[in-house]
Amino acid sequence: IFVVFEGGEGAGKSTQVLRLSEALTGAGHDVVVTREPGATDVGARIRTLVLSNGTDADAPSPRAEALLYAADRAHHVATVVRPALARGAVVISDRYVDSSLAYQGAGRTLPVQEISWLSSWATGGLKPDLVVLLDVDSTVGLGRVDTRGAGPDRLESESKAFHERVRYAFLDLASADPKRYLVLDAARPVEEIADVVAARINGLLTE
Ligand code: C5P
Repeated sequence: IFVVFEGGEGAGKSTQVLRLSEALTGAGHDVVVTREPGATDVGARIRTLVLSNGTDADAPSPRAEALLYAADRAHHVATVVRPALARGAVVISDRYVDSSLAYQGAGRTLPVQEISWLSSWATGGLKPDLVVLLDVDSTVGLGRVDTRGAGPDRLESESKAFHERVRYAFLDLASADPKRYLVLDAARPVEEIADVVAARINGLLTE
């Protein structure tokens, strides 16, 4: 099965990805943990292009950025995700298509439908079995990232309104397809979130 974690900055995705992978590995499953952008050698180079903390003038234009994320994803799906699913592994990805719909679509105000087409072309239509959306208030989330010191230059150049659009885009995607989503308040205690996620995944694995 293919499980994706989504959410804004500082939602605690990486903590929860780690928890879930430890729980599943402990239960004897073959688990592949991966992420976007940057899980492959090609992707790492793309990640540098899209996430370098240079000035705005150095940043790729919105359409170029969307294509770079799509290229990262196409290569990631072809070389990591599909082969792992084919051998029966549980694949857990930190971000996937919804991040592009939310950041490049709603955030950069490119037409979401076009990003959706681009994404399904890039992935050959591969959809996750479950998306765990860790919903975080934009101000709270950004505060967590800033204290960690992870790329504040770029994050500051993206306005509060940008992060609000991203947040509500994630929530809209979840409400349009509720069976495929588990939406959790990222402010809940780490253990509690991990338990709810594990219960849902165990349900999927025993279906
Ligand atoms: O999840 P992680 O912190 O590695 O994401 C890095 C950054 O990439 C995020 O801050 C997010 O703003 C950005 N991103 C994006 N569009 C995507 C995926 C990530 O803008 N499709």
